[in-house]
Amino acid sequence: MGLDIKIVDGTLADEAQVFRADIGISGGKIAIVAREIHERADRIISAAGSYVLPGGIDPHVHLSLPFCGTVSADDFSSGTRAAACGGVTTVIDFAIQGPGTVLEAVRARRAQADPEVCTDYSLHAGITRWDAQTQHELPAVMECGITSFKLFMVYRKEGWMADDFALYEVLRESARRGGLVGVHAENVDLMEGLTARLLREGKTEPRYFPESRPAFIEGEAIGRAVRWARASGGNLYIFHLSSAEGVEAVAAGKCAGVRVCAETAATYLGLTDERFGEPDGHLYATCPPVRTAADNARLWEGLMKGEIEVLATDHCAFSRAQKEPGRHDFTRIPYGMPSVEVNLPLVFSAGVSAGRMSLPQFVRLSSTNAAKLFGLYPTKGSLQVGADADLTIWDPRQERTLRAGDLHMRVDWSPFEGRVVTGYPRMTLLRGEVICDGGRFLGTPGSGRFLARGPTQYPDR
Ligand SMILES: [Zn+2]
Repeated sequence: MGLDIKIVDGTLADEAQVFRADIGISGGKIAIVAREIHERADRIISAAGSYVLPGGIDPHVHLSLPFCGTVSADDFSSGTRAAACGGVTTVIDFAIQGPGTVLEAVRARRAQADPEVCTDYSLHAGITRWDAQTQHELPAVMECGITSFKLFMVYRKEGWMADDFALYEVLRESARRGGLVGVHAENVDLMEGLTARLLREGKTEPRYFPESRPAFIEGEAIGRAVRWARASGGNLYIFHLSSAEGVEAVAAGKCAGVRVCAETAATYLGLTDERFGEPDGHLYATCPPVRTAADNARLWEGLMKGEIEVLATDHCAFSRAQKEPGRHDFTRIPYGMPSVEVNLPLVFSAGVSAGRMSLPQFVRLSSTNAAKLFGLYPTKGSLQVGADADLTIWDPRQERTLRAGDLHMRVDWSPFEGRVVTGYPRMTLLRGEVICDGGRFLGTPGSGRFLARGPTQYPDR
């Protein structure tokens, strides 16, 4: 039997162990994993001195998202190209229910994404209305492979918000079929009230932005969602966990036996709200906001203790020009930061290279846990024979200074400009195709596939 590709002399790591082995790829799948592979291959890739890991899964990106009077700058092509260069082989975006049905939103989003994506992808269904039709449609949505939902506890004006009853009901209905319900957890009444008061007092500068969304409104909303998960028997997932209070609320839910999992991002782990006082402070506004150094530390601890299962980004890129209307008025900032390309290198550097995170831990956080939660395991997120050959070859010694001009995201700034990282993806393979090599993107828009997903699996802790 001939192989398409053989990756030799690398150090492999999966969710459980680190080991020396070669990988043989055939037909886009992992065909052999062995200490030494003698079969011939059309191409031999040396991974000497490097780690070979399952490709990253970023289950929280917003590509071509219409928001705040503009559209997020990375489309499905540029966003997935950047993801690939940052070691990510699968992204999950959103199909948010508009005036029509959820399935209509899914179809429209797929029509947009399918011809453009350079990595594999899927969609969460954003439910904005819990009416008889939506309820009736839910099984069909899950049957077409969309097994996770997003409910916004905020964004009332934008028409995205779902109330507590909707959240309770979607948790209850989806759990029966192995669905997972993700929430954007902030208390909307306090957020709106605090914002209105700041505006009345003329406090519109970006430095006041964090006061409009303090950590306790996240902690409260997570606690409430956990309560609905417990009462309904649902599977809950907290998007973009930002604060120590949020981690405590998740941890308390876990202790009480509730199936609640959470994600955080390099932005919340490595940036603080001091940025809002800088001259370009408006650039860093995202919801929830980045917090204090103590919050950063508690999030790191949560990652290490397994209280937080997933590294995602909430990648939502806006250029300086798009952000400009909010320079002196935080209510006019299109919220979001570009990070899909640098998320994993930043955490690899601060975690693995710094010696505080093991490689299997990094693999669980960057890939395996998301694969399990979002119904993709073991086709994704593993190095098992038969899995998709989605692989990232990491050079643990490569030092890079992050600069917006060198990155592939379609924006003219980076929240991590000038940050030095140790360890960087050297090569990314998607189903056995080399789509990024030494920082050069080699993939093709449209070659990524839509992933119909299965039921959620609760990751081991
Ligand atoms: Zn988001």
